[in-house]
Amino acid sequence: MILKGKTALITGSTSGIGLGIAGKLAEAGANVMLNGFGDVDAAIAQVSAYGTRVLHHAADVSDADQIADLVSRTERDLGSVDVLVNNAGIQHVAPVESFPVERWDSVIAINLSSAFHTIRLTLPGMRERNWGRIINVASVHGLVASAQKAAYVAAKHGLVGLTKTVALETATTGVTCNALCPGWVLTPLVQQQIDSKAQAHGDPSRATRELLMEKQPSLDFVTPEQLGELAVFLCSDAARQVRGVAWNVDGGWLAQ
Ligand code: NAD
Repeated sequence: MILKGKTALITGSTSGIGLGIAGKLAEAGANVMLNGFGDVDAAIAQVSAYGTRVLHHAADVSDADQIADLVSRTERDLGSVDVLVNNAGIQHVAPVESFPVERWDSVIAINLSSAFHTIRLTLPGMRERNWGRIINVASVHGLVASAQKAAYVAAKHGLVGLTKTVALETATTGVTCNALCPGWVLTPLVQQQIDSKAQAHGDPSRATRELLMEKQPSLDFVTPEQLGELAVFLCSDAARQVRGVAWNVDGGWLAQ
């Protein structure tokens, strides 16, 4: 229960990785503010199982005013933001020369600018209390590129840069800032890619195997719960000198 009495705000936590991280932070004792869309009731029920306070606010993190509202509601209703997980993310696949401008803007806003806004608003309180954990969910694509994902790759590289910068600016404090860089995790985001591959040859299980074999030597998906366990570790006292790290959790992807 290393997070007993602390509050975690996790953007994009109604499904996939964010939901897995929210569950593990609650299991470690944190009160949780969930954010995002979709099956909100199921997400609240899942995270509430650990007996801490769990609230939800569906702010669209592409909008700075809605982020300000999300942060102030968390502080008002749960007391503070001690653990901030910037996880909300979308992607769009297209060659750069035909990449729709509005999709570029929304991928950058949701995956990168939202983290700038949440950090700006929550860091003063963390500094004042001399304790805080900022965890940015980047991607292996924050460290290496992938064709047809210009906005996603640019946003995730930017998020790794923001992580390192904030880590330097907080280096002498009790606040740490790190990034998790997952490989393939089987979530709705990745299911979309499997579905579009499956359409090409009519076989979803072959599409799944191909996706993994292309990149992930473990031939297995990373799970949201594993990422949640690593987030709890980053919140621990043992991790207090882990600062500015972009931690790939990728079944060996980047070892190749
Ligand atoms: P997901 O689609 O399952 O979940 C995305 C979450 O973000 C949902 O809760 C959704 O409601 C929320 N969201 C989307 N747009 C939002 C907005 N404008 N405002 C607020 N919330 C919004 O996706 P996921 O696979 O769990 O991805 C989570 C993060 O992990 C993303 O940043 C993604 O880039 C990153 N990631 C995923 C993988 C993977 O293989 N799934 C790998 C590396 C990194």
